[in-house]
Amino acid sequence: MTMTITHLGTGSRGNSTLLETPSAKVLVDQGFSGVQLQKRLARLNLKPDDIDAVFISHHHGDHGGGALVCQRKWGLRVLANERTAQELGLEPELTTYFEALDLVRIGDDLAVLPVPVPHAGSDNVAFVASHGGERAAIITDLGSWTDELVTHVRGCEHISIEANYDHKRLMYGPYPYSLKDRISGRGGHLSNDQTGQFLAEVCTEKTRSITLTHLSEKNNMPHLAESTVLFYIDELFSGDLTISGQQGPDFSHYIGQSGEELAADEISTN
Ligand SMILES: [Zn+2]
Ligand SMILES: [Zn+2]
Repeated sequence: MTMTITHLGTGSRGNSTLLETPSAKVLVDQGFSGVQLQKRLARLNLKPDDIDAVFISHHHGDHGGGALVCQRKWGLRVLANERTAQELGLEPELTTYFEALDLVRIGDDLAVLPVPVPHAGSDNVAFVASHGGERAAIITDLGSWTDELVTHVRGCEHISIEANYDHKRLMYGPYPYSLKDRISGRGGHLSNDQTGQFLAEVCTEKTRSITLTHLSEKNNMPHLAESTVLFYIDELFSGDLTISGQQGPDFSHYIGQSGEELAADEISTN
C-alpha cells in the first residue's frame, strides 16, 4: 500500500501535484497549459487520460487555469468548490462540487479532505489525502492559518506547504508597497518564518517528509527557505526536507511503505 506524491512543478507560473495510489491517480491543482501538463506527465510515463480526477484548490490562474482544458481536451472530471468552479467557468457535467470538510473518495483507496485556508479574493482550500491509514497534506496560497488547519495537518506523514517569500527580500525588493502589503497580509502568502512556525505546530514523530513549494522567484531563495524553516523545526523533525521549483517533475515522496520494502518491490516488478 503506497501513495506517491510527485510535484509536477510549483510556483507563480503554474502548480500541479500528482497523487498516485494502486487504484487512483489524481492531480491537486492544474495551473499548466495542456501541452505543459502532457509533457510533465510524459516524463512519468503517464498521459492526461490516465488521471481519474483533478482537484482545484482555488481559482487563481497558477492553480486552476488549466482545469477547463482538462475537461475539454480529455474529458477529465474536475473537483472544486462552487465559487472556484464558477470563477473558472468549468463545464458543469464534468465538475463535482465539494464542500469544505466533506471527505471525497476516489477509487478504492484514496480519500481527500478539503480544509479552508485564508487567501484574499478566493475560496481556497488545502487538501489532506489519506491512504491506508497514512496522510499527506498539500497546502498552498495562504496568508495565515486556522486552528482547524492545524488539527487536520498535525501528524501527517508528508506535508507539502508553500514557503513563498523571505520577509527581508520582500520588504527591500522591487515590488510596489501595495503589493508587498497584499503578499504579507492575512490573505496573501506565507513567509519562510510563518511556514516554519506553522510546521512547528503540526510536525510530530510521524512526519517523515516535508516539501517547500511555491517559492517566489524575486523574493526568496531555496537556501533561505530551507534554513529558515529548519530553524523552527530542527528539534522536531529528522526526515527529508526538499524544495519543489517551477520545473518538474523532479522527485517523489512515498508514504505507506518503507525504503527497503520499496526496493524489494522494484526488484520484483523489474
Ligand atoms: Zn499560487
Ligand atoms: Zn492564489
